[in-house]
This record gives sequence, structure tokens and C-alpha cells, in this order.
Amino acid sequence: CKLNGRNHTLFFSETMEEDYNENLILDADIRKALYNKEFELYYQPQINVITGEVIGLEALIRWMHPKKGPVSPAKFIPLAEESGVITQIGEWVIREACQQHQTWLKEGYEPIRIAVNVSAIELQRTDFSEKVRSILTETNMDPHFLEIEITENSVMQNTEECILTMNCLRKMGISLSIDDFGTGYSSFGYLKQFPINYLKIDQSFVRSALKEQSSAAIVKAMIQLAHNFGLRVVAEGVEDEAILSLLKAENCDFYQGYFYSKPIRAVDIKERILKAK
Ligand code: C2E
Ligand code: CA
Ligand code: CA
Ligand code: CA
Repeated sequence: CKLNGRNHTLFFSETMEEDYNENLILDADIRKALYNKEFELYYQPQINVITGEVIGLEALIRWMHPKKGPVSPAKFIPLAEESGVITQIGEWVIREACQQHQTWLKEGYEPIRIAVNVSAIELQRTDFSEKVRSILTETNMDPHFLEIEITENSVMQNTEECILTMNCLRKMGISLSIDDFGTGYSSFGYLKQFPINYLKIDQSFVRSALKEQSSAAIVKAMIQLAHNFGLRVVAEGVEDEAILSLLKAENCDFYQGYFYSKPIRAVDIKERILKAK
């Protein structure tokens, strides 16, 4: 842009401020969003590679801001983690997923496992597993249909305490998975210590597996390693049939991705995915 005259400093700073405000999300906005029920859970099916059956759903949060429109979780979750409001969001997510599950049951659908994402900040709270337990009781949810996804990096901070919490969740009957596997700093050796059921291979490896030999080799190694540890593997970010064939050849158990479905609203899950009892 052209800057001229004595106003140029003012002009420049005004524009910057506008840009800044447009992108700025405040902690107060997030709190207001919780209060005003601006959040919604979308669900993405997880599929058995061999049978093509839907074996579970991953709940992913969506925020429709009244003025800004949809705000990506990749944008507001890190901010919520920083301010601490993630605790309230996380609690809302777990309760909402459990309530949704119970609503579907009452409507006559078969139960289905729902995975929720839990951030490091939540997991590290000493009352986390008790909170989960009270939500399960309150919603009358069978813990065997709840799964908690924890990123590799979040277990690596405060590992010992996280393992205690994870053991506690497992004892309740909840399943656990390590999310974004391969992007973090843990070594394969750590996997043994984690009381987990599933390993989710990060989509960056999955999506480049056909183009890059190295990614294909990593995917293959991760699947073998997980199987050696008795874990089942979910590949994320499967966008086409060719990747699915590769995963099939490598004995991957489950997959998620746009090839089967994007994350969709609860009502669409009910219409397209759930089976009536
Ligand atoms: P994530 O847990 O790794 O979730 C997978 C992301 O990949 C989702 O993005 C999903 O929509 C997207 N995805 C799924 N299949 C494909 C595909 O085939 N191709 C491509 N390109 N993308 C695919 P989303 O929903 O925008 O979420 C982004 C991240 O935000 C999540 O990554 C997770 O870390 C975080 N997040 C989402 N919901 C929650 C939540 O309820 N709580 C917490 N703590 N974090 C959440
Ligand atoms: Ca996830
Ligand atoms: Ca992931
Ligand atoms: Ca991720």
C-alpha cells in the first residue's frame, strides 16, 4: 500500500490494529462461547480397514463465533490451554459426548465408542479422573464406550503422574489412545510404559506415505511396533483409496479420513452411520 503525508504513521498503525483485532480471540470470547453454547461437537467415523465397518467416532470441537464465523480448534485450543479455560472446554466436551451417546441409545441405536481429545493441561490436573468419573455417573454412560485421546507430547510432560492418571482411567473401563504419534519426542521405548489401547499414526506420515519412501517406511514400522506391543493402530488423514490399500497391505487395523468421511454433525452421524438396534 501507498503511504504518504504526515498521516502515514497513523494510517499504518490503524491498519495493523484492524488486522490484529480481526484475528484476535480473547479468553473472554471463549468463556462467553461456553456460556452461549456456541460450541458443537462434530464426529468423524473410524473404520475397520478389513471389513469397512465403522468401529468408533472421534469427537472434534467446532466453534461458530457469532461475528467471526467458524473458528478452527487449531486456533483456539492452544489459546484456551494458555489461559486455563481448556479445563471448562474439556469438561464440556466429555459431558457433551457422553450425553450424545446416551441420547442415541434412547433413540434406539446401537452403542458406539466415542473418542474425545484431552489436552495435556487437563490430563495433568489431579482431579481429572474424578471429574471424568462424575460425568460418567451423571450421564449414566458405560465407560467402555468412552475413549480418551492424549497426544504423545502431553504424556511426555510429567510422565509419571500422567501414567497414574491413565491407569486410573483404564481401571474405570475407559480406553486410551496416543494421538499424533510420530510427531513428538517420545521414543518407542516409552510406549511400553503407557497403559494404552490404540496408537494413532499422525496424518503427516499417512498422507505422504505414497509419495515418500521414508514416510511409508515409518508407517510400516509404527504398525509393526504397535502390534508387537499388543496395541491396535489407527491411521489418520486417509484421503484416498491408494493410501487405504497401502494400509491394508501393512495390516493397519483402523483408519479415519476424508476418504470415508469428514467430521460431521451428530444428526448426520445418526442418519448415515448409526445402526438401529
Ligand atoms: P487431531 O486430534 O489430530 O484431529 C484430526 C484433525 O484432522 C481434525 O482437524 C480433522 O478434522 C482433520 N482430518 C481428519 N481427516 C482428515 C483428512 O483426511 N485430511 C485432512 N487434511 N484432515 C483431516 P480439526 O477438527 O480441525 O482439529 C484440529 C485439532 O484440534 C485436533 O487434531 C486436536 O488436536 C484439536 N481438537 C479438536 N477438537 C478438540 C477437543 O475437543 N479438545 C481438544 N483438547 N482438542 C481438540
Ligand atoms: Ca485426535
Ligand atoms: Ca491426530
Ligand atoms: Ca493433531
